[in-house]
Amino acid sequence: MVIERRETLRRLAKSLGLLLVAPLITLRSLQATVHAATETADGEHMNQLSPTADDPFRLPRHVLPVRYELRLEPDLAGAAFHGHVTIAVTVVHPTDVIIFNSLELTIENAVVEDAAGGRQPASIALDEPLQRCRLTLAQPLAPGQWRLQIEFRGTLNDKLRGFYRSTYKDRNGSTQTLAATQFEATDARRAFPCWDEPDFKAVFSTTLVIDPALSAVSNSAVLSETQERGQKVVRFVDTMKMSTYLVAFVIGRIEASAPTAVGKTTLRLWTVPGKKHLTGFGQDIATASLQFFERYYGIPYPGDKLDLLAIPDFASGAMENLGAITFRETALLVDPHSATHGELERVADVVAHENAHMWFGDLVTMSWWNGLWLNEAFATFMEMLAVDAWKPEWKRWNTFGVSRAAALSVDGLHSTRPIEYPVRAPKDAEAMFDVLTYEKGASVLRMLEQHIGPTVFRDGIREYLLTHAYGNADTKDLWISLGRAARQGVPDLMDGWIFQPGYPVLTAELTERMELVLTQQRFTYLPNPTAGFWQVPVQLRIQTGDKTDTRRVLLTRTDERVACPAETQLVVVNEGGHGFYRVHYGPRLLQRLLESLDTLAPIERFNLVNDAWAATVAGLMPLPAYLDLTGRFTTERDKNVWAVLIDSLAFLNRIIDPSHRPLLEAFVRTRVGPATASVGWTPQPGESELTGQLRSELIGALGRLGNDSETQARAAELYATARKDSAAVDPNLFPALVAILAFTGNAARYDEFTERFKTAATPQEERRYLFALAMFRQPTLLDRTLAKTLDGEIRIQDAPFMVSAVMSNVYGRDLGWRFVKTNWEVLDQRFPKQGLRRMCGGITGLCKPELERDVRQFFDSRKIDLGGKTLDQYLEQLRIGVSFGERYGRSLTEYLQGRY
Ligand SMILES: [Zn+2]
Repeated sequence: MVIERRETLRRLAKSLGLLLVAPLITLRSLQATVHAATETADGEHMNQLSPTADDPFRLPRHVLPVRYELRLEPDLAGAAFHGHVTIAVTVVHPTDVIIFNSLELTIENAVVEDAAGGRQPASIALDEPLQRCRLTLAQPLAPGQWRLQIEFRGTLNDKLRGFYRSTYKDRNGSTQTLAATQFEATDARRAFPCWDEPDFKAVFSTTLVIDPALSAVSNSAVLSETQERGQKVVRFVDTMKMSTYLVAFVIGRIEASAPTAVGKTTLRLWTVPGKKHLTGFGQDIATASLQFFERYYGIPYPGDKLDLLAIPDFASGAMENLGAITFRETALLVDPHSATHGELERVADVVAHENAHMWFGDLVTMSWWNGLWLNEAFATFMEMLAVDAWKPEWKRWNTFGVSRAAALSVDGLHSTRPIEYPVRAPKDAEAMFDVLTYEKGASVLRMLEQHIGPTVFRDGIREYLLTHAYGNADTKDLWISLGRAARQGVPDLMDGWIFQPGYPVLTAELTERMELVLTQQRFTYLPNPTAGFWQVPVQLRIQTGDKTDTRRVLLTRTDERVACPAETQLVVVNEGGHGFYRVHYGPRLLQRLLESLDTLAPIERFNLVNDAWAATVAGLMPLPAYLDLTGRFTTERDKNVWAVLIDSLAFLNRIIDPSHRPLLEAFVRTRVGPATASVGWTPQPGESELTGQLRSELIGALGRLGNDSETQARAAELYATARKDSAAVDPNLFPALVAILAFTGNAARYDEFTERFKTAATPQEERRYLFALAMFRQPTLLDRTLAKTLDGEIRIQDAPFMVSAVMSNVYGRDLGWRFVKTNWEVLDQRFPKQGLRRMCGGITGLCKPELERDVRQFFDSRKIDLGGKTLDQYLEQLRIGVSFGERYGRSLTEYLQGRY
């Protein structure tokens, strides 16, 4: 899956080196070997994985599903479906009870059949809180093969989970409906009775009975299409053995792009009518990344065809259903001529991410949700490799620094969690889809890959996939494979990063005797850190005269001394920026680095600023020192370095007393102004796409955070020009123009943007104008935006993000929070759970002591649980913001009153 976020996490650099391509193993021979090995051992294997018997959230293992024959008849207009499933099961121990998952389904009838056709009806008992159904039989079943026949009914819901409805307006303005699925983590049980845990892998044979005017797509190719009582009956080929959360079906008036072929695989994109012209870019990266992964993994694509479908209503970013990947429209459909670099990158990332899952996740799956990182960190890491190989000029690994920084910031909380973390209830599984699983996971994999070498790493991955194909695996299985390839003990190195929370800050200082002293301790923003110790792979660059020396050190103690040459001038710790830790340089080293910024790679400058800012928030560096440091970057040209600088200024904007805000705005102008002037407003011939994005970043900051009237006037002029001739303005500049005009806009502008949102030509344009509605400053306009999240004008897939965006707007936070409090019951009822969780992320921007008190009181008194540690993390982030304001508010003002 890919999480939908408001802001994209950004970019990266380092070529993989030559991929030595091993001959592809034929999947048929692999499948035969693996089946022979697992079919016979299934019972035993499952028993080894057995959770403790008293865990109410895990199914017992005495009956195991082997094959589902599923027949579903959805009624799109009536928002309902009728289904029949025949499940071939293996009974391991004699029993008169069968327990499986079922939620919000009416089970009408259940019968057990033996091989000879003997039938025995079962009595049915539903346990809604545990989302289970228990069948009881008069005659116990002997060990062996049985068939379970179940008839059931369900609702096509509007909650974007399970089997649900999505609607859109067609060209004539009338509402059309389609039905789609989203099963991860635990919602297959809302569509059909099943053993809904990832290690109950089985084969699925799906039949959909639909209106003949509609099309249907599922995980595998169509086997046959026939007519029955005026309905179209679409039967699909048997899938490979896979987990329930990967099953999918989409039914509606949908159109496919012209197919491309990757080896034997046919690849197509699907959209609702009228959007097929937006599929080209997505199809290119889908094709390129599928080829890339076949080579990298050395295993052919495991499905029999690959469809990528854009769904108008979709809760997350995308979902890796085998052979039928579903996306929200912004993550798949795009017009490369009008999109920004960031929007194109988002599509490339998400498509590559989902394709990577076809092996990592679908072919080999984590045994249980605690190991979700095995799926998601890998897909995130592989997405970078694939996009970097496809568009090296995007320097994707540089921008990955922004993703790493996002993980470092959550992982610097006391309320963080280890990457691998116990999961029991479904809501805890859902809470695992966060920055720690994805971005921290991918960061530590990158660190390991760089430490043991890309080729060795890839060989280990290949062995892991081959060993566990069509099965499930745990973290230790991955370490075994990687350790074998690397010929070293990977667990010693990696367990600290995966099984303990947090990460270290390395303090680095050069002694008089030219010894580099590295000391590690856990980094936290708030004081009283708990202990922690890591094996840290450190890459150093030591500069002496015109000689540069790179050294790799594995820090295995609390502190380490590295002898440096007598004439050492400069030491860069975390050279190349791959390490998942912070560096706090002593004053002498820091001073030298700041005087030699042009010798640092962009990712190293990024880390320098990012670590300095984190040290400031944590109280390790005085705020004035940081504000002085920002003055060294007025000639900076890297967009990621600017992103972190601007983010730190935006943080100050949240804590500053409103009466002093003009001082901060003036300060922003002194910092951002010179860089903006030198980049200019007009793209230069031959400049990179990254420069276009930098320009947008700078102008946006100057117009809003800097409240610069000249920039605002120019933005309005340029926007007017672009409205007449869209080709006259670089698409990369558009987000900044729209954001500035919202910031300065009145009711007329608000109406204009609302209209643009409703009539947008592409999903990206729609999204841009939608989010602009949260960027206005007048309370009456922001109130209108909030109202739209409840009256259906804003789709449920976007509404929670809009509420969060209003709370993150310093001019809207009070009324945004009031809205959440007042409407909590309605929002809780209306939004999908993951949407509600993302909405609550907006509370981290409520950095005022009185708001913080109110927020805590509200969540305490209602005993609200957002799953996992989510709420604790939001509250701690809020605490950090408020305590920063209490500590530094005054010194910030003094500094800004003319002391810089
Ligand atoms: Zn994913």
